[in-house]
Amino acid sequence: MKYKPADNIQDLQYFGEFGGVNPSISDSSTYTFLSAKTMFDTFEGNAEGCYLYSRHSSPSNLYLGEALAAMEGTETANVAASGMGAITSTLLQLCKAGDHIVSSRTIYGGTYAFLKNFAPKFNVQTTFVDITKPELVEAAITKNTKVLYCESVSNPLLEVADIEGLSIIAKNHGLTLVVDNTFSPLSLSPKKLGADIVIHSLTKFINGSSDTVGGVTCGTQEFINAQRNVNDGAGMLLGPTMDSLRSASVLKNLRTLHIRMKQHSSNALYLAEKFEADGFRTVYPGLKSHPGHKLYKKMMNEDYGFGGILTLDVGSLDKANELMELMQEKNLGYLAVSLGFYKTLFSAPGTSTSSEIPEEEQREMGLSDGLIRFSIGLDNDIERTYQRMKECMVKTGLLEAELV
Ligand SMILES: *Cc1c(COP(=O)(O)O)cnc(C)c1O
Repeated sequence: MKYKPADNIQDLQYFGEFGGVNPSISDSSTYTFLSAKTMFDTFEGNAEGCYLYSRHSSPSNLYLGEALAAMEGTETANVAASGMGAITSTLLQLCKAGDHIVSSRTIYGGTYAFLKNFAPKFNVQTTFVDITKPELVEAAITKNTKVLYCESVSNPLLEVADIEGLSIIAKNHGLTLVVDNTFSPLSLSPKKLGADIVIHSLTKFINGSSDTVGGVTCGTQEFINAQRNVNDGAGMLLGPTMDSLRSASVLKNLRTLHIRMKQHSSNALYLAEKFEADGFRTVYPGLKSHPGHKLYKKMMNEDYGFGGILTLDVGSLDKANELMELMQEKNLGYLAVSLGFYKTLFSAPGTSTSSEIPEEEQREMGLSDGLIRFSIGLDNDIERTYQRMKECMVKTGLLEAELV
């Protein structure tokens, strides 16, 4: 049967303490025990259903985790205070000094900086590879490699990872395949394709209202228990815990994710096709010209489309800045980093979200100065949006007037 992530979320039933249709929010950092023995057992990790302290777990965080695990089809999940909180506590849980990671070279700037500059302090080394080339992935694996890391759709180049192929490589070498699925929630289900651990920055599409940061690690009960372990769990000990009030609000926003993703995706596809026809170098996985288009199509849960992110190359940073400033002035979106908002957001990744990546490496991976990353919003009339964007492109000299 076809995998239906949104239905899996829908099928969960929650009631609040007084029969509320939303679960009650656990507004406490600590929890009472009727007996001292239960407190001891909870510390030891074997008192099901008891809460100890909210850095460890809280009812609200468990509800949100459960819903995200249902979406990704994993046994369970651990919510974190940010995407980076989920990524770093997962990688530090999986690796010890001397271990090695093979990672895609086109990943979120913060993750790249963590692997390149921070993890080596603990003697965890990373080799960055072009993840679309399996022979390069294989060649980078050493006897110390523990983790294979990638994004299902990479930031900001929108390379599509062959998750099934990578999972076979991971299995053959005994590695844990960790996939950051932030760009393609619902649309791609990495666990179903063979990933061991799926991570999201909830900050983006999943929460969708750009009012908080958040993250999640979806995996087996065994791994999540280890991450939460009071003695040596990276989640518990590094403390990237989400606040209960926030997790309750993220859970409410998650309810409409399927509707939003469909709209983000159809708006993005519409604009990508138009921009490409206008002669712009346009990158969007839904375009036939995208090198990963067929692969994405094979992997995707069709209902949700190819996601809301596209990039345009307008030739130079100056042009990119001029266009973005004008589009903001015309209220077509905001010049801001991040993604998944109701309004279109645009930024030049080379000087913002990927600025952690040295210029030379940026060039090598095809990240050019004039690249604009768009997170396409939920606009009701995307044709109208397109016409207005086109006016901005004419005004900045990127399109000729007679084409309008
Ligand atoms: C934003 C982002 C992150 C980091 O998430 P935060 O919530 O900002 O900590 C990680 N991966 C990807 C792909 C992202 O877009």
